[in-house]
Parts: sequence; structure tokens; C-alpha cells
Amino acid sequence: MSDSNRVLIFDTTLRDGEQSPGATMTLAEKLELAQALRDLGVDAIEAGFPAASPGEFSAVRAVARQIEGPIVCALARCEARDIDKAGEALRDAARRRIHVFLATSPIHREHKLRMSKPQVVRVAVEGIARARSLSDDVEFSAEDASRTEPDFLAEVVEYAIEAGATTINVPDTVGYAVPEQYAAIIGHLKRTVRNIDRATLSVHCHDDLGLSVANSLAAVMAGARQVECTINGIGERAGNCALEEVVMALRTRADFFHLSTGINTRRLHPTSRLVSNVTGLQVQRNKAIVGQNAFAHEAGIHQHGVLMNASTYEIMRPEDVGMGKSDLVLGKHSGRHALRERINALGYALDEEQLKKVFDDFKALSEKKKEIFDADIEALIEGTIQDSSGPWTIVAFHTSSGSGTLPTAAVCLQHVDGRKVQEAACGDGPIDAVLKAMERIAEVAVKLRDYQVRSVSGGMDAQGEVTVEVEHEGRIHRGRAASTDIVEASARAFLSVVNRITLEREPSQQAMLASAHRRD
Ligand SMILES: [Zn+2]
Repeated sequence: MSDSNRVLIFDTTLRDGEQSPGATMTLAEKLELAQALRDLGVDAIEAGFPAASPGEFSAVRAVARQIEGPIVCALARCEARDIDKAGEALRDAARRRIHVFLATSPIHREHKLRMSKPQVVRVAVEGIARARSLSDDVEFSAEDASRTEPDFLAEVVEYAIEAGATTINVPDTVGYAVPEQYAAIIGHLKRTVRNIDRATLSVHCHDDLGLSVANSLAAVMAGARQVECTINGIGERAGNCALEEVVMALRTRADFFHLSTGINTRRLHPTSRLVSNVTGLQVQRNKAIVGQNAFAHEAGIHQHGVLMNASTYEIMRPEDVGMGKSDLVLGKHSGRHALRERINALGYALDEEQLKKVFDDFKALSEKKKEIFDADIEALIEGTIQDSSGPWTIVAFHTSSGSGTLPTAAVCLQHVDGRKVQEAACGDGPIDAVLKAMERIAEVAVKLRDYQVRSVSGGMDAQGEVTVEVEHEGRIHRGRAASTDIVEASARAFLSVVNRITLEREPSQQAMLASAHRRD
């Protein structure tokens, strides 16, 4: 297929995706995810919005320095300070892109920007020119494009390309568009903007009406050649266009679209799991492509058909999206090599130190549990990544409870700076007591909003996975951890929340931790 049939995949999980409430990722988690996105084969990674905070700045800089292959992109408003920050954060990138945006719709012009049409054009052009002085690759987004007068949008786009924008993004910022209309906007730009051939047209759709994937595909049919999307469709409000859905639609219906992407679809499922692990946002079971039931046939007549010939009811093969045919079971006698293979198949790339930790935990778990499933291994990996991504680690804890006694807990945590702190507390139960002791050690006061336990895999000896959701100063934080001991799982889940809050309070520690865990 020629280049004009190639659709570029621009992943914004680290930027727009991270804007989902409670989805904040630590620097170590962002780097882990950026590596997974590179292995997935995305064309561009939007790593963040450097002017938003010092933490965002260092995250973008770390991704720019460590990820080779895809273009690393940073977002900026059309303001000199934002653009300069983006340029600085991207300075060491092998391939960089500055993405500037400015709203163009009447609603935004009047109520947010208080700018006239000529002012909008001028500010956009100035921003693009400044970005071009720092990077040859510049993307311009006309925010709320789908609610902008088509002729004014065309005018802005023409000036933007003239000023040096190499990609023009036409976002459906509020998820308002419907496929035919959205495709018509793209068609209008293709027909009326004189220099349109000098830029790639891009789309960025939100899912407020459940139409983000349909809108993106309609736009591609009308000539757009970049789709902005996130893994699992996470993002603001109802989320963004789901990468896995748009990619598999293009691939499964290549007979219709005649288009291709550079995505290694076998990495879709592992990457999806990684995103739900680091964000704590679970994928609904019936979610297309990556949901647990996406390939499960329940009705007898379907099962019968699939056994006779899979194509009767299956339009895609589970292995094409990296979903294991069956859970391979590991046990006590499985060696380091088998474990490493399994870890890679699950989509994780661990360094030697992390691998050793997972292997030790695996051996310890295999003493307690006969059969070890993928979900168990994932829980161990997740625990290792999590434990090495925060300033506090658990040294020891002890609880006592029973009828007629007061539930108490003693906890000892170690800070990355070397200090060890111990505290004891009473509570409604042993878990409550552990959480209270940790709150005292880390000096954070939180409100527990949700607490859930579910079993990770089958069997009486299954690991319990604990999810905690807490509120701290008006923000939601989530933590997850698994163990055969529920009190320990709770302690580790809560610890990850404590670490997130501590890192947000002291962003300088992010850099310290990242250099401690840096790998090449
Ligand atoms: Zn967005």
C-alpha cells in the first residue's frame, strides 16, 4: 500500500488519558507506558503538557530522552511561555513535535478567549511561528473545531499551514459531532483550503455520545490521515476514541477502508492491561477488542459454530489482539526463563532488578498457591513496578484482631531518603488500623471513598486484589495491589495511594526516583 493509504496513530493516553479523574500516573509508570506504546508501534506519543506543572515538564522530558522510535509530542497553548517550555522539554528527543492549540468556535471565542476572528488568526499564526522556530514538526489544533463555522475554520487552517504547521488537527473537543457531519467538515477543508496538501489532517474525537470511533473512521474516509486516540479510550469525561477499536476496525475491514496502520496488533491486549493497571481504571467486560468477554462465546449455538469453524461467529482471532488462547499455568517448578517469557508475552519489559524481584515473589507465591495464572503474574509485576515507583516502601507490619480485643496495627515504612518511621494505631478492624498507621507515618489525611476486594484468579488459594479509592484535598487517587493475604494487599494498595500523594506534594522526588530506576 502506498503512503497515502497509511493512517498515523497518535496516542494521547499520557496526556488526554491522564486527564481522566483519578488516572494520575507517576513518572516511572509514564515511562513504562511510553515504552509499551513504542513497542505497540504508535507513530506519535503525546507525553504531556509541560507548562501545566513541574511534574508534567519532567515527565515529558524523561519520555523525550528515553523513548526512541515514535515522535514525542508536547502540548502548549498559543502562548510564548507554554511553547518555550514544550520546546525545552523536547530538546533531547530523537524526533519531536510541538502541538499548539487555540479555540476557534464562536462559543469559545466569545466566552473563553474574548477574541475576535482576526485576533484568533493572529494569535494562532504567532504561536505556530514560535513553535516552528523550535521544531520542524508542528501540529496545530483548532479547539472545538466541530462547532466552528466551516468557512472560518478553513480560513484559520490555511493561515496555520502558511505559518508552518505540518499537521492540522480538527478536534471534536466536546464529543458533539456525528459521523456524516464530521466527515463533511474534513471534506470541506480538503476542497477549500488551498495549501491543504502541505499538511496532514488529523482528528481527535471525544466519546460523549459514544460516537468517537465512528466519527474518527468517517473522518478517515473523508481524507484525514492521523487519528488521535487513547488506550482503552480513557480520557476527560466519557473519554477519547479508543486506539484498539479504531485500529482493529481499519484492519478487520481492510476490504472496505483499504487503509493500514503501523500498529503491532498483538500488543493491543498487553498494552490495554498495562494501562488499566497503572491508572486503576478497569476495562468493562464487554468492551470491544480488549474486554474480558470480547471473544467469549456463551450461547450454545455460537459455541458449536465456533468449534466447527471459528469464522462462523468470529470476525477477529483473539491471538491477533494478543489475547492468550488460554491461561498458561506456571507452578513451583517453573524457572526464571519461563517466567521471563511469560512476562514479555504479557507486554511488560522489566529490567534485571525488577525481574529478580518478580521471580523471588513468584517463588514465594508458588509456595502458597499451586497453580499460577497470568493474572497472578500480572499482579506480581504490577506490585514490583508500583513498589519501585514511590518514595515509601513497607518494611514490616503486624496486626492483631479477634472478638473481644481491640484491632491494632504496627507499621514500619522506609522513605527513599533512608529514614525508617514506625507508628501504631487502633481501628474498626485490622485493615482500618493499618491504614491509620500509614496515614500518620506519611502525614497525609485522606477520606476512604471505596474499598473493594476481588479474587485475581481461580481456586481457594487465589490472590485477593484490593482496590482503594481515596479523596485527598478534593482529588481522587486510586491504588491496587494483590496478595494471598488481604491485609497485606490492602496495605500495599493504600501505600501506592500514599506514594502518589507524596509525589504530588514533593515533585522533586519524582526525578530522584526516576534516576534511581532509570534504564536504557
Ligand atoms: Zn481531548
